[in-house]
Amino acid sequence: MKPPVFAQMLAPVRGRLAVAVLLQALAAVAGVVPMIAVSEVAAALLGGGARPERVWWLVAAGTAAVLVSLLCAAAASTVAHVADNALQLRLRRDLVRHLARVPLGWFSATNSGQVKKVVQDDIHSMHYLVAHTLLDVTSVVLTPVTALAYLLGVDWRLALVTLLPLAAGLALFARAMSGAGPLMAEYGRAAGEINSSVVEFVDGIAVVKTFGGARGAHQRFIRAADAFHDFFSRWSRRTTGVTTASQLAVSPVVVLIVVLGTGLAMIGAGWMPATDIVPFALLAPVIPAPVSGIGTRIQALRGGDTAAKSVTALLAEPVMPRPSDPEAPGEGGVRLRGVGFSYDGAAEVLSGVDLDLAPGTVTALVGPSGAGKSTLAKLVARFFDVTEGSITIGGVDVRRIDPAALYRTVGFVFQEVALLRGTVADNIRLARPDAPLEEVERAARAAQIHDRIQALPRGYDSEVGVDAEFSGGEAQRISIARALLADTPVLVLDEATAYADPHSEARIQQALSAVAAGRTLLVIAHRLATVREADQIVVLDSGRVVEKGRHAELLARGGRYARMWRAQEPAQESRRTDTVVETP
Ligand code: ADP
Repeated sequence: MKPPVFAQMLAPVRGRLAVAVLLQALAAVAGVVPMIAVSEVAAALLGGGARPERVWWLVAAGTAAVLVSLLCAAAASTVAHVADNALQLRLRRDLVRHLARVPLGWFSATNSGQVKKVVQDDIHSMHYLVAHTLLDVTSVVLTPVTALAYLLGVDWRLALVTLLPLAAGLALFARAMSGAGPLMAEYGRAAGEINSSVVEFVDGIAVVKTFGGARGAHQRFIRAADAFHDFFSRWSRRTTGVTTASQLAVSPVVVLIVVLGTGLAMIGAGWMPATDIVPFALLAPVIPAPVSGIGTRIQALRGGDTAAKSVTALLAEPVMPRPSDPEAPGEGGVRLRGVGFSYDGAAEVLSGVDLDLAPGTVTALVGPSGAGKSTLAKLVARFFDVTEGSITIGGVDVRRIDPAALYRTVGFVFQEVALLRGTVADNIRLARPDAPLEEVERAARAAQIHDRIQALPRGYDSEVGVDAEFSGGEAQRISIARALLADTPVLVLDEATAYADPHSEARIQQALSAVAAGRTLLVIAHRLATVREADQIVVLDSGRVVEKGRHAELLARGGRYARMWRAQEPAQESRRTDTVVETP
């Protein structure tokens, strides 16, 4: 049988856990001693002729055992918590170190959700396992074993009888759990369906209400809840009887009836002195007690194992190879040669892309949705590595450049803008934490966001999410200020269309012009203005470059770009504002 995954994960704190388990074992054994002492005292007193000093010794031993048990349990818990802290710190560090090397492009919404779950929930489940469950299981096993060992010494025949309720309880429990695997899976599915229908309902509540779909969405939730109810009733009908019988078999009353009944019969038959019944009356109920909590413990161990598996999976996520002897990126432009790319070895998203971004020029990427524009832009910033061909900056392959040096060379502003907790100034300073405030303000001015920041209650010291709330367009301009301050020679950016209210859009355009000055710029262009003025327009379709040139040249050629342009022109004429170039 393969050892559980968590066992491997606990290896670094194995020594401390062994000490904790040992202390807990002592606590469990010492915890039974007072009951043994009491039964010895009772036997001594009932048997007559007890020597007072022996009784006092027993009382003293019992009391000392209580103290030892409490102290050992407290020490075990402390050591286990210390081990748990060390393990958590180590796991969190490993995760951070590992995630720093995973390709940036890996961090999609789903994967980021997974990271959050592992860091918050799974590491917590492991805390429960390390700091509580292991000790709990030690205690639950050793207490009855100690009691049984003592009872075997008193009268082995009656001691074996005390095992009968345990055997019955276990057999019934096993019967209740038989076939539980598929049922647990069904339980998970049914509960998951309820969760997702609730999330769907809440997420889309505005749409659902506006478009009158409330009944439909509501129905899905009701169906999920009904299905869960049916499933649960079926399951409990099947198992309640057996589970209750199992609990009953190990209950103190039943245990005492069985053991004392047999014991009295044995005394009656003269097989056992009457005083020997006392330890059985005190200790027999302890023996099958673990059965009643077996389900929760198995659940806790399974939960810990599942959590350990998620953590292991995250730690096994492939990382971006780092150059062993990195080179500094050279001066000069960006060159793509024969670039091909596919996500996870699936269909090619880009193939045979040759492209030169000359220093200080603006290149606009256009093409229908899904053509591969974002993918291409992300490859330049090494969000992923190319599957074929190469991307060089100043003649040095991006894979040979140290990541930190690469990020100082290639900046990016993508549509999904992330503002971090902290002050507005710190958000702009992200790439250069020690940049003086004047420079921060200069960048913000160029990015057309300075006035808005000044109007905040604490200006640049306002905290994002506390006293600074930004619209999408404003957040975009802050991220442009950030890129300006980072002052990378190459900048990759995705013009936002999502926040294109005319006012914001005009200001974003001005901000982008500031960014373009003296930089090598690759823009995923959605607006005609950007495209028109670009030094080079690259038309992508189905992952291939289909046309390349300046606006006038491409129009004159009368090809793909000219058709896209014409399709947009009426709109441009009528609105006289920038319009979206992207057409299928
Ligand atoms: P564009 O920016 O031109 O709209 P994209 O580069 O976003 O195009 O997408 C190109 C193709 O790659 C699309 O077919 C898209 O479905 C696919 N794609 C984009 N991102 C991923 C991803 N993270 N995993 C798998 N496929 C992706």
